[in-house]
Amino acid sequence: MAANWKMFKTRSEAEKTAQTLLSKIEGKVPADREVLIAAPFTALSSVDSVLGSQDWFHLSGENMYPAKEGAFTGEISADMLKDCGCGFCLAGHSERRHIMGESDEFVGEKVTFGLANDLSMILCVGETIEERKAGNVQQVIDTQLEKGLAGVEADIVPDRIVIAYEPVWAIGTGEVAGPEEIKEAHLFVRKKLENIFPDKFNDIKILYGGSVKPGNCAEIIALDNVDGVLVGGASLDGESFSQIVLA
Ligand code: PEP
Repeated sequence: MAANWKMFKTRSEAEKTAQTLLSKIEGKVPADREVLIAAPFTALSSVDSVLGSQDWFHLSGENMYPAKEGAFTGEISADMLKDCGCGFCLAGHSERRHIMGESDEFVGEKVTFGLANDLSMILCVGETIEERKAGNVQQVIDTQLEKGLAGVEADIVPDRIVIAYEPVWAIGTGEVAGPEEIKEAHLFVRKKLENIFPDKFNDIKILYGGSVKPGNCAEIIALDNVDGVLVGGASLDGESFSQIVLA
């Protein structure tokens, strides 16, 4: 159950939200469920100070630059994320692809570099509404997975890579993809994973993201090939995200 806080929350706001979440879910997280928060860089340590000791919790960066260090003004490295307590990082979120103009190849470089530098990576894929209307959903996801995973070794430990299917038209819009649309896309992702990782494809988690709320989460995670959710807006409130975590 993953949260993406995007460019929201000061350090004190992040700490308060993490405390609310902890107070609502402590002692209740089922053994087979994990919780992840991708927080802004400045808030990572605040979240870690509240949740870092919980065995069900993972801290994640929202982005990373694929180099050890160097003259990359404004960027953040894998080592810096790990230094703040992160074990994970997102790559290819639609806001990075469509607002910052990140290419499929660049996203793939981040995935490869993050894995080689001891981060587990969450690769986000998904089509725009124009691509869906043009009947290109599978083609778009196929290319994003192909290029995003191009540098991943076939013997990768399956826990270290997570795929998030997030149709762009469902992100932050209140418009959730329908069950058939989600099932179809997730099955396609699973089959693609089978091609790339024939021995491990069933152990790689596939998350759905796009306007997940406390009221629709249980129905979504019950669908075939949906192993969890990636939640933006509804994760910003600790109470609301706690309901999603326990759905
Ligand atoms: C996201 O940011 O990845 C996301 C799915 O956002 P929202 O839940 O607000 O649609």
